[in-house]
Amino acid sequence: MSFIMNENITIDTNYYKLEDVVHLTPETFILKLPKSRFPFRAGQHITLAIKGDYQSREYSIYSGENDPYFEVLVKEVEGGYFSPKLKTLKKGDLVEVHGPFGKFGIEEKHKEGRKHVFIASGTGVAPFHSIVRSYPGLDYELIHGVRYHKESYGKENYNSECYVLCTSRDNEGNFSGRVTDYLKQATFDKDIIFYLCGNSDMIFDSMEILKEKGFGRDEINCEVYF
Ligand SMILES: Cc1cc2nc3c(=O)[nH]c(=O)nc-3n(C[C@H](O)[C@H](O)[C@H](O)COP(=O)(O)OP(=O)(O)OC[C@H]3O[C@@H](n4cnc5c(N)ncnc54)[C@H](O)[C@@H]3O)c2cc1C
Repeated sequence: MSFIMNENITIDTNYYKLEDVVHLTPETFILKLPKSRFPFRAGQHITLAIKGDYQSREYSIYSGENDPYFEVLVKEVEGGYFSPKLKTLKKGDLVEVHGPFGKFGIEEKHKEGRKHVFIASGTGVAPFHSIVRSYPGLDYELIHGVRYHKESYGKENYNSECYVLCTSRDNEGNFSGRVTDYLKQATFDKDIIFYLCGNSDMIFDSMEILKEKGFGRDEINCEVYF
């Protein structure tokens, strides 16, 4: 734990005052904090705690490396311990942030000259949002699986030609069906690097499909949320 001494008060530098809570759907929201006091690489995650609560959870960083603010994208899990509490937070509340953690993210040597395919379910799109904001000009395709098109979090930040929204419960995305249905019928160039993020079922099934298409473990990177 680190501290800043400021005349009469001592501030724990792991605490951040919430600048805003932006509700995107009834369940999903962005927690907006002041710019992080630590450098991070797009794709990494942090742990978040609420002042006065003993539990914490991991969240991918949603904002870009150079954004003047720091954001996470959270979905309230019904019956969950922590995410429903996060949803009740208001501007000015204190949260405790530790990190950054993890190695999920694109490799420096691949930034130029390689195509990246990002495959996400739900809020698993968060690290890719950070990556796309951090590295303008990156060659990528983002395949995002959600139930309804209104869950296309951050869609406005992606080049529409690089974004495929797969909706499993309405027909208003670019593809009707699950991400895995999209992958089965898709064709990919041989030198692509894949990044998968979200729930373990989606990741496991997607890996099997990519394996059948001839891609090996070295070309597939994963971040499992639950
Ligand atoms: C590296 C990492 C990064 C993560 N990043 C994010 C993120 O950016 N945004 C985000 O919303 N979550 C993210 N998570 C999940 C997050 O840490 C919590 O698990 C989630 O918020 C649920 O916490 P909870 O206390 O409400 O539920 P808990 O009481 O801990 O768990 C209740 C149940 O919900 C399941 N569960 C967890 N997440 C979900 C989900 N999204 N949908 C349905 N069921 C779920 C758990 O497996 C468990 O069975 C991440 C997890 C990891 C490991």
